[in-house]
Amino acid sequence: MAFENYVGRFAPSPTGPLHLGSLTTAVASYLDARAHRGRWLLRIEDLDPPREVPGAADTIARQLEAHSLHWDGPIHYQSQRLARYADALARLADLGLLYHCTCNRQRLHQLGGRYDGHCRAAEARSALPGQPSALRVCVTSQPLIEYRDFLGGTERVDLGERGDFVVRRRDGLIAYQLAVAVDDAAQGITHVLRGADLVESTPRQIFLLGALRLPRPHYGHAPVVCDALGRKLSKQNHAPALRHRDASANLLWALRWLGLQPDAELAAATPDELLQWGTKHWSRLRNI
Ligand code: GLU
Ligand code: ZN
Repeated sequence: MAFENYVGRFAPSPTGPLHLGSLTTAVASYLDARAHRGRWLLRIEDLDPPREVPGAADTIARQLEAHSLHWDGPIHYQSQRLARYADALARLADLGLLYHCTCNRQRLHQLGGRYDGHCRAAEARSALPGQPSALRVCVTSQPLIEYRDFLGGTERVDLGERGDFVVRRRDGLIAYQLAVAVDDAAQGITHVLRGADLVESTPRQIFLLGALRLPRPHYGHAPVVCDALGRKLSKQNHAPALRHRDASANLLWALRWLGLQPDAELAAATPDELLQWGTKHWSRLRNI
């Protein structure tokens, strides 16, 4: 089935070079887009300077090129779009959905990932001048979120279980959830295919899109690549950076991991040939 207007994206954070795990996610979203004759955009999620590595955005772009994962149009940098996020915050505030949260780290830690609405109850008392506060969005108006994962089944989530979430951090930085929701809509993304490690973010982003009256993309979550110990491949776990000269081998590995079975003659194929083959054989129904 071809979606006339399919627009997909890969949205890495520039916290380091790509490794096999992030490459596999990129390949999955690239193949799904190309198999549906869609566009595939590259968005650099550079909203968290303390976690960023200088030069990583360029390194990622060069790695994608070396693997023939050519994106359409210009690269979109979130750091250049702060005004849009401020607009979205203002709209949420107008809707009465935002409040200042002055809870400190220790209190939040004790809550164990479920925010109890403490500062919402105290919302009449606006933040004291000079007191650092995060902005949270109140989810109580629309806590039940349902969506169909195009690599899985129907998901029903009660946002209330984890409580109101942060859209602007205490340090003033825009939170991932808000920026992604705003940009997926602004870029006309129709299909978000990303790692299952982000599955808990999806209902939050759907909530924000609904509140902001923005279109909701389709979401699909691919299982994340793990090492022999079952840990997600990541920079923290010292996953090695991809080398350009291993591009074909890396792509073969990613295709296999995604459930495709490249023929033996592809062992010597170029990255372009491997991606063409992958696009032709891509199927969402395989065992990913
Ligand atoms: N920037 C996020 C990450 O690198 C991914 C965002 C997304 O795909 O929604 O983990
Ligand atoms: Zn609070």
